[in-house]
Amino acid sequence: SDSHFPVPISPSHVDYSLHFPHFFPGSSKKIQFADIGCGFGGLLISLATLFPETLMVGMELRDKVSEYVKERILSLRVANPGQYQNVSVVRTNSMKYIPNYFEKAQLSKMFFLFPDPHFKEKNHRRRVISPFLLDEYAYVLEVGGIIYTITDVEELGDWMKSCLENHPMFEALTEKELEADPVVKLLSSATEEGQKVARNEGQTFQAVYRRIVPSDQT
Ligand code: SAM
Repeated sequence: SDSHFPVPISPSHVDYSLHFPHFFPGSSKKIQFADIGCGFGGLLISLATLFPETLMVGMELRDKVSEYVKERILSLRVANPGQYQNVSVVRTNSMKYIPNYFEKAQLSKMFFLFPDPHFKEKNHRRRVISPFLLDEYAYVLEVGGIIYTITDVEELGDWMKSCLENHPMFEALTEKELEADPVVKLLSSATEEGQKVARNEGQTFQAVYRRIVPSDQT
């Protein structure tokens, strides 16, 4: 249960020197990308070299899986000196503790790749995208920051899209913007779950939205 892992009491209590010893102490960088429910970490590993100066973290609830990602990152650091220093993982329940890790407007990208579907109506409140949680994500994202979601479950894809579409602080990226964003191509190919879906030639449903200032506040 939650009591078995430490939770920082505020974002200033996150020990960056533990996660990014190559940069800290001595840097004023902050984590800018968060991969929520990162699983085995495939997306983070791709992003680490694509954005070598950006600090990023995976959040994963399962202890063994987060330990695996930690080991994976450590061995990549050893095998590739100077690389993968910008990526780390925490074991946590993202549905409870996002505000403990990130300040207002700290993040520029958040990822929700192949989240658990929680099919039954009474379990929809356990979905990682919901109107309530989007308020929280809007808080930690900077204006212009982007939420990336993808799933192979059509019903969940519709749900995530409609939550984002109906939220006043998010707007969809245009087709042109999606094509120009190198990260969009990774959504279906970089993670372990995405690769599994691709092997089975499954369909995917994505929704990519930008954090905006609501029109009644401009
Ligand atoms: N994103 C990865 C991928 O595409 O391969 C993993 C997808 S997997 C189906 C969903 C992951 O979310 C699981 O590893 C699960 O443990 C994690 N997860 C579920 N609820 C979570 C929560 N509240 N906080 C953090 N991680 C969670």
